[in-house]
Amino acid sequence: MTLSINLGFPRIGANRELKAAQESFWAGKINEDQLQAVAESLKLKHWKLQKESGINSIPSNDFTLYDHVLDTSVMFGAVPERYKGKFDSHLSMYFAMARGHQADGVDIPAMEMTKWFDTNYHYIVPEFTPDTVFALDSTKIVKEFLDAKAAGVMTRPVVLGPMSFLLLGKMQSGDVLTLLPSLIEVYAELLTRLKEAGADWVQLDEPILVTDLDVDAHSAFKKAYDRLAEVEGVKILLATYFGALGENIRIATSLPVAGLHIDLVRAPQQLEKVSALLPDDVVLSVGVVNGRNVWRTDLHAALKQIQKAVDLRGTDNVWVGPSCSLLHVPVGLSAESEIDAEIKSWLAFATEKLVEVSALSKACNEKGSLGPEFTESKAAIATRRASSRVHNEAVSERLSNVKPEMKSRQNGYAVRKEAQLALGLPLFPTTTIGSFPQTKEVRAARAEFKSGKRTQSEYDQFLKSEIERTVSIQEQMGLDVLVHGEFERNDMVEYFGERLSGFVFTKNGWVQSYGSRCVKPPVIYGDVSRPQPMTVEWTSFAQSLTQKHMKGMLTGPVTILQWSFVRDDQPRSRTCEQIAFAIRDEVSDLEAAGIRIIQIDEPAIREGLPLRRENWNEYHSWAIGAFRLASSSVKDSTQIHTHMCYSEFNEVIESVAAMDADVVSMETSRSDMELLNAFAKFNYPNEVGPGVYDIHSPRIPTEEEMVDLLTKAVAVIPAEQIWVNPDCGLKTRRWEEVTPALEAMVAAAVTVRRNMIDSSRKTIDAASPTETSNSASDPVAQTLSA
Ligand code: GLN
Ligand code: ZN
Repeated sequence: MTLSINLGFPRIGANRELKAAQESFWAGKINEDQLQAVAESLKLKHWKLQKESGINSIPSNDFTLYDHVLDTSVMFGAVPERYKGKFDSHLSMYFAMARGHQADGVDIPAMEMTKWFDTNYHYIVPEFTPDTVFALDSTKIVKEFLDAKAAGVMTRPVVLGPMSFLLLGKMQSGDVLTLLPSLIEVYAELLTRLKEAGADWVQLDEPILVTDLDVDAHSAFKKAYDRLAEVEGVKILLATYFGALGENIRIATSLPVAGLHIDLVRAPQQLEKVSALLPDDVVLSVGVVNGRNVWRTDLHAALKQIQKAVDLRGTDNVWVGPSCSLLHVPVGLSAESEIDAEIKSWLAFATEKLVEVSALSKACNEKGSLGPEFTESKAAIATRRASSRVHNEAVSERLSNVKPEMKSRQNGYAVRKEAQLALGLPLFPTTTIGSFPQTKEVRAARAEFKSGKRTQSEYDQFLKSEIERTVSIQEQMGLDVLVHGEFERNDMVEYFGERLSGFVFTKNGWVQSYGSRCVKPPVIYGDVSRPQPMTVEWTSFAQSLTQKHMKGMLTGPVTILQWSFVRDDQPRSRTCEQIAFAIRDEVSDLEAAGIRIIQIDEPAIREGLPLRRENWNEYHSWAIGAFRLASSSVKDSTQIHTHMCYSEFNEVIESVAAMDADVVSMETSRSDMELLNAFAKFNYPNEVGPGVYDIHSPRIPTEEEMVDLLTKAVAVIPAEQIWVNPDCGLKTRRWEEVTPALEAMVAAAVTVRRNMIDSSRKTIDAASPTETSNSASDPVAQTLSA
């Protein structure tokens, strides 16, 4: 019999009950028992839902109060020393590790957080030292298993596997794999505990197997799993997901486990080879329902895949499930009363995906009898394929006529730089990244407008007055390039998505991003086009208020793609190109309206990087191509900026250069300008704005600190290439913080300009007089004569 299996269910609850409980607990409004009660009711509800949906093998320990990787660190005793002995409860320590703690005389930052593979979920990075001593605390996992059992649900406890746990962690010095022998003993002990509690299967997640691994990792895998195989009486399901096993296929199929889960959504081609290499008695669990996207599965196609597996291995040795945990999709569709019915029929969230998995396993077992789900699936696939909402002739037409020259500015940067001197900017020009504080008033006004309490014209009036105030504040501060403040946007992707065709928004389609934070990605269902200008009116209005340059603010095509659920009926690259055309039109319209500086934010360009290095080039070529398509319609004299929110540029610096923006701003202040080394080494040709003000902290930086950072920047990058700006947008900050910080930032720029002038005077005095005269186009000279 082909069993149906689920790999993990969203924890947050259909109405984000977990978020509410976590935040109330952190605010001291509820106690630990009340928090645990909410957690328990969610777990119970989800186990029952899975059982009622017909899932045979249901996970436990997929739930967490913050993050499952942090749970793993705690379970195995990998708690950094600095958190020990400071808290009166285990849970306080746990949350301090997750989010830092600043009260009762304890001031301790959170552990590092980073993205979980190529998803938008963030995990707490395990921290090891060469003398980390592991010790098992199996309370949570055993309790969850027993709770489920008591409720009549036999579950399969899920744990992050030892290799992924180590390799996703960090250690200051030395090789994490040296810790494996001691860690694996604790894993063995865990298996024994779970067996004693009555578990017959345990799932060990090893997603690291779909990334590039070296021979040392391969041999460590073998040692680890050989040792675990010595624990008798409990079967291990080794789970891989998010891609193909690739060159790890031999190691993955040779480990002594009872089952192997593979992702056939991302890597359908691996079925035959995996099956051929996998010993006959090992169960192959095939992930055929996409756990990373929201589309209804083509059940007939999925069934064919499963049948192929069954032909190869026999029904008893094949299980069917989603490609990965359902953590990455919203809980369920039932609350979506406002989505157009036809579009809704094309979607499947976690709850609906369970039904699909179960229908597939039934179809396998009751040969020839296909449930009603198959008919519905077929109908949905057919209407979607033919729908005029999805396909737009004009968009296809445009895409088939992309010419290479559309992805290049008219001239290279050197020529554009000359043309852009007409902007009259000083050396070390100052600017911000776009948003200004989204105050309570701004959010309230938007909410009132959305609920109909404020009319369109009242709301517009409100936004205008916010813009007026913000422009005049920036003028008073002496900033060189101004912004309008982005008060009309609640989110940099949603704002554009709502104005583009081909996007739909859910009411409750929340997905956990980290801890209690959830995001609600738009769904791109059809060809993307721009019915009308999206930002021109606000930007022009802002420009009309000042003689200074007003920077147009757009979100780039890759970021819009990356932060949405995208179509699965065409390559991501094609969807990205469609978005790029829409942004290109907006850029042209801004230029035509007299806007001479336009910023196209791409904070997500790096996170789109494929898990395997061999796929990087292909990604870069279309992602950068899309950015260039969006940004290249303008004249040489129009200055294009881009912005990115991270600081590891070493690996991607060439791609950043290939984007060919005139100016790129990025996050740097926390890393003390370290990232600039990459720019220096690479000889980055265009201009850069290394953030000098850490906007993630309420702290107000001093002028001296920023002068210091800029001085460091000048040491590695020529002065005429440097801009002065914060790390990111200011929307999460308060005006009381922003005003003095920006004043200090402008003062820092003035000081650094003066220092430059002083030192160039010295150079000029020492040089022959003719050398100073032919520098009309040199901004250093312009600043000197200003
Ligand atoms: N322009 C956006 C802002 O200032 C950029 C935000 C981001 O990079 N995430 O808020
Ligand atoms: Zn940013």
